[in-house]
Amino acid sequence: MTTFCQNAPWRQTKIIATLGPATPDLASIQALHKAGADVFRLNFSHGSHDEMRQRLQAVRAVEQQCGRPIAVLADLQGPKLRIGTFAGDQAVLEAGQTFVLDLDTARAGDAQRVALPHPEIFAALRPGAQLLLDDGRLRLRVIACDTQHAITRVETGGVLRNRKGVNVPDVPLPISALTDKDRADLHFALELGVDWVALSFVQRAQDITELRALVEGRASIVAKLEKPAAIEALEEIIAATDAVMVARGDLGVELPAEQVPSLQRRIVRACRQSGKPVIIATQMLESMVAAPVPTRAEASDVATAIYEGADAVMLSAESAAGRYPVEAVQMMRRIIAHCESDPNWRDALAATQSAPTATVADAIGLASRHAISLLGAAATAAFTSSGYAAIRASRERPAAPIIGLTPRLATARRLALVWGVHPVVTPELAVGTRIEQLSQVAERHALAAGFAKPGDCIVISAGVPFGTPGTTNLLKITRLAEAASDAPAQN
Ligand code: PGA
Ligand code: MN
Repeated sequence: MTTFCQNAPWRQTKIIATLGPATPDLASIQALHKAGADVFRLNFSHGSHDEMRQRLQAVRAVEQQCGRPIAVLADLQGPKLRIGTFAGDQAVLEAGQTFVLDLDTARAGDAQRVALPHPEIFAALRPGAQLLLDDGRLRLRVIACDTQHAITRVETGGVLRNRKGVNVPDVPLPISALTDKDRADLHFALELGVDWVALSFVQRAQDITELRALVEGRASIVAKLEKPAAIEALEEIIAATDAVMVARGDLGVELPAEQVPSLQRRIVRACRQSGKPVIIATQMLESMVAAPVPTRAEASDVATAIYEGADAVMLSAESAAGRYPVEAVQMMRRIIAHCESDPNWRDALAATQSAPTATVADAIGLASRHAISLLGAAATAAFTSSGYAAIRASRERPAAPIIGLTPRLATARRLALVWGVHPVVTPELAVGTRIEQLSQVAERHALAAGFAKPGDCIVISAGVPFGTPGTTNLLKITRLAEAASDAPAQN
């Protein structure tokens, strides 16, 4: 495998770029990947199935060209409540005026009314309840309502555009995390062959188990934490899911914005403790939707996620609909590179490292990390079938790259999301493979990836007997042969 168009230089923290109208084709996806995107997100809240298929095919074409596994994350909309559309695509609401919501989607909205095509909201609304529109930018208070209408007073006005989101924090909505649309989108996404599926507005661990039963192992699962109820069930949700997204957009609407930073920290710690990859999402470089540089506060926000030890940072509108999608990815990559070369970053990760569990996999992960720092080893080569061994090795946040060597392309793609893992597809080790052959394979990949040079030490983990998944039980330390610079010329 070549390192020809690897999205180098090497970073431990991964970048997720959402695809959208600003990045619709092969050329733009190529440019995002080259700039540093490791994972592409298909946001099923926007766009047709045809568009999703084209995007996925373009990502696979880029993967083919580069010879690097790339993950695709299908993000299901979940029970995201949205208003309908306006004549002229928007309306201006003034504070103090009344504004009506109803179920009439056939009629375009105006400054007096708009459709809210969710009967379940009208069934649950009560006078006095708040409706937050467009991520809380506009606020309405219900004056009167029945099963089809709500008359509201505008408390905070502003411009309201087509299909903006609605949050109803005061009223528990008796709705499942999987809508009919989500089920259809999930079916489609799994047929396409996506690697990760994200579920929005998770409220309980059962939402994840429900999704898992439908996914049947064809993808790994991301729980998006964006509801107060999910924070209450944090430990159970983390135990049930494969990865977590701190979905700060809706989280910061459903809960006061001032609570988001400490919640982010708590969620990242809990995920790192459990060894579940965690993504920080939304508004990371928001001003880059319209400007070629971020604010200093945004740069600092991305850095905070990196110092906390998050697995991945995510771009939404910046890469999907902004004017500077490639610049946004480049900026993230530069911030990551800078933080990761700061000695304080290592200290910050070490200070927040929690004890491993009493399992063989964790004993090997822990021993690998210690061996790497003691010997200054250049890389770990983790032979893994399901990816589990590489994820547990990543949990230790070692100082050198983890080369996730797997015979399964699906595993390699999933690992593209995971902190510090450089996934590589390599043929399955045959039963009876000798340890020397194992070392040769590991050394070859460490050299090919550019992580090791002759004379460097690498750490290898694998399961014996070879060819049996779930048996990681071997740790081997090897030194690459010195370059024979003074060797006689071959004849
Ligand atoms: P969304 O999720 O972009 O699908 O809303 C992320 C968030 O709410 O932060
Ligand atoms: Mn959201």
